[in-house]
Amino acid sequence: MQNCQKQHPPERGPEGKMQNCQKQHPPERDPEGGMRNYHKEENIMAIRNVRVEGDPILRKKSREVREVTPKIRELIDDMLETMYEKEGVGLAAPQVGILKRVVVIDIGDGPLVMINPRVVREEGSQTGDEGCLSIPGKAGQVTRPNDVTVRYMDENEEYYELDGTELLARAICHECEHLDGKLYVDIVEGGLHDVVPEDEEE
Ligand SMILES: [Zn+2]
Repeated sequence: MQNCQKQHPPERGPEGKMQNCQKQHPPERDPEGGMRNYHKEENIMAIRNVRVEGDPILRKKSREVREVTPKIRELIDDMLETMYEKEGVGLAAPQVGILKRVVVIDIGDGPLVMINPRVVREEGSQTGDEGCLSIPGKAGQVTRPNDVTVRYMDENEEYYELDGTELLARAICHECEHLDGKLYVDIVEGGLHDVVPEDEEE
């Protein structure tokens, strides 16, 4: 994440995994891994309640965002805070009860904010374990494309096209499906199994 801290011009090379990281500064995390002390401008970010499977809002279709209002920015900040607190790699707005087409993703390369994301290319396939903050303590095998291209707007209303492979491709597909009311349990292969959380406190 260090190499994303400096301002540099946009790079849209063929590798393209983090083309837009010049504007996606990873928030500083405290040694405990949380971001409770992270303040953005005068806004104190808040952890939102994550809806769990069975909540009907998770099955509804989210609406497009026409304009990034202060309220949408607050939603994005809170979604990032919530994702880091829960140690997820992605979170979609309906998971915090807001039916807007906004997702946040961080697979360890820094945060990505995607507004109105649309997967425009899918190639290959990968099968692996997948979990969801709305289905805590569980995981299951899901087959996804191995390589996708997603188009989206960021929090500054700038448009991007991003290529993602492997975990990033999986996260993009998973989060975009939340916006259409779909959950990975709909396509899981062979049922769910329990996940024992890693104990990072020593
Ligand atoms: Zn999910």
